Amino acid sequence: MEKRIIELTNLLNQYRQEYYTNDNPTVSDQEYDKLYHELLALETEYPELIQKDSPTQGVGGLILSGFEKYQHPYPLYSLQDAFSQEELFAFDRRVKLEFPTVTYVAELKIDGLSISLDYKEGKLVTGATRGNGSVGENITENIKKIKDIPQTLKDPIDITVRGEAYMSKHSFQMINIERQESGEAEFANPRNAAAGTLRQLDTSIVSKRNLASFLYQEASPSQEITQVAVLDKLSHLGFSVNKHRMVSSSMEDIWQFIQEIEPDRAQLPYDIDGIVIKVDDLAMQEELGFTVKAPRWAIAYKFPAEEKEAEILSVDWTIGRTGVVTPTANLRPVQLAGTTVSRATLHNVDYIAQKDIRIGDTVIVYKAGDIIPAVLRVVTDKRKNQEPILIPNLCPSCQSSLTHLEDEVALRCINPLCPSLIQRSLEHFASRNAMNIAGLGPAVVEKLFRAQLIHDVADIYKLSREQLLSLEGIKEKSADKLLSAIADSKEKSAEKLLFGLGIRHVGEKASRLLLETFGDIETLMQSNEDAIAQIDGLGHVIANSLAQYFAKPEAQQLISELKCQGLNLTYLGQRVDQSAPLYGLTVVLTGKLEEMGRSEAKTKLEKLGAKVTSSVSKKTDVVLAGSDSGSKLDKARQLGIRVEDEQWLLDL
Ligand code: NAD
Repeated sequence: MEKRIIELTNLLNQYRQEYYTNDNPTVSDQEYDKLYHELLALETEYPELIQKDSPTQGVGGLILSGFEKYQHPYPLYSLQDAFSQEELFAFDRRVKLEFPTVTYVAELKIDGLSISLDYKEGKLVTGATRGNGSVGENITENIKKIKDIPQTLKDPIDITVRGEAYMSKHSFQMINIERQESGEAEFANPRNAAAGTLRQLDTSIVSKRNLASFLYQEASPSQEITQVAVLDKLSHLGFSVNKHRMVSSSMEDIWQFIQEIEPDRAQLPYDIDGIVIKVDDLAMQEELGFTVKAPRWAIAYKFPAEEKEAEILSVDWTIGRTGVVTPTANLRPVQLAGTTVSRATLHNVDYIAQKDIRIGDTVIVYKAGDIIPAVLRVVTDKRKNQEPILIPNLCPSCQSSLTHLEDEVALRCINPLCPSLIQRSLEHFASRNAMNIAGLGPAVVEKLFRAQLIHDVADIYKLSREQLLSLEGIKEKSADKLLSAIADSKEKSAEKLLFGLGIRHVGEKASRLLLETFGDIETLMQSNEDAIAQIDGLGHVIANSLAQYFAKPEAQQLISELKCQGLNLTYLGQRVDQSAPLYGLTVVLTGKLEEMGRSEAKTKLEKLGAKVTSSVSKKTDVVLAGSDSGSKLDKARQLGIRVEDEQWLLDL
């Protein structure tokens, strides 16, 4: 028995390291939970064999070097978990022994990572991860990049609050597409993507990744009487608070709520992994207290696995628009989370090697972020003499040699004339977020390409009705519709065109920022790399990629051809005014102003072209100080930053 306890302790600790510290789990949560409960049962039977480092004895998570440690003023806990109705009813009975009239509040269990935020006089002073519950990582600068976390509360109070930072399914998908195209390893799920993002040392990466939050707990002593009142208070203070909840004294009602939410969870824009049921009355919570690891007044019901076993029949290799070659497993179809799954991604060649996945293997498939099915691992017990997956040396489309670039997990076809690569770029150009040409999907692109009617995006604008009608399956009505969608696309604002060109690293947001600044594509082509790199939210990688692209004669030729075809190259949205008096300056506001409130001053500064930030650093150009300015003014003086008063703003 001792051997198994030690084995489980070591294995679970390895998984915890991978999950909490490396943000890269190698087993599913369900698998982890199964082993954890096996250990828990053995430890209950043989308490003398509990290992000092047993995962049941503390809150998981280690501190990454690179961040300052942060001693939490109030400890953070994990939650007891339940996987069945019986376990919830047992919890209910335990609580009702002490408090027969208890009321519960059930909340969504957001699948992100815990954050703890300290505010002093209504100002955000620290943001930290949970770490081991007593000591976390100080990630204040990253927390400030989460847009829905207020830096100033509605009321100037001291408070410590807790919640979950998460990544929406949409952002997760977009980031993984980008990572796949740039040859980087994809994130396994939105939780890992959020955790990996918040523990970035580079805050600009955090800004780009659109994290969001839900707050649910007041950790400092509360004036409120119930958890529901705490949630309302958090909402009043300006935090995002999740709207879905159920309040009832009956566990049957709560179970009903769980049954209703579970099938709908795929519809939510973020992942949840269960429902947390809490005793509503805070005084009762205090009496119930905590175990070493978790509160006795709450329990997390975890949804069953969205995983299934499936057999790999074959593997397809497809080329993306940047030349990345992606393996996809064809499966014997299985039902998974309400859909029939017959294909699942194998991510990249390194993943196949690492997990030793072979043709004929029975594998576990799951839905990452509830959307894309992926292969998690092989069920080795079911392995017979399976065939290794042959990694192609040659591009399956153009037969040129594939390259495994250094530092990349992906294989790439680097032949710019590869037919698959060209077709993917054409599909991208016509896609919804780019030129949005309805009717020009992969099947039609393929037909046009095979008929040699289009070779590059400019050819789309040369298509005639007769040519379209000559293609199999295209009738008059769809030909006319397609021609009118092509004509409409010419009028689109130029950031759509720029994004549609598929320049490496130039995504939707970068395209918009570039055109907000430069106004039209031709001016952008003339501007120098440094000017581009200076734009807030961009940087040298994007600037360099653009410079390389526009230096190519083919690219210049393409743009001029698109212009001749009548495409709009001008940005039609609101421009950044480069002649605004404070254009390019970063301003920090501090202290009390006489003539206007802080938010009014912020709006005025932004209208004058300034970027307003909250903390003073070397990047700050001006500190606008009102009366009673404290540490920010001191810091500005220390760093020799220009200090102005309210009159300066009024004069401007
Ligand atoms: P947990 O994630 O099961 O539950 C506790 C956490 O829930 C809290 O810290 C909080 O961050 C979060 N939470 C979300 N919404 C909440 C709400 N409305 N109210 C209160 N809390 C809310 O527990 P844990 O200790 O953080 O992690 C253990 C779990 O992590 C395991 O059960 C497993 O699922 C997973 N895990 C997986 C691996 C792996 O290798 N796959 C390894 C370690 C842990």
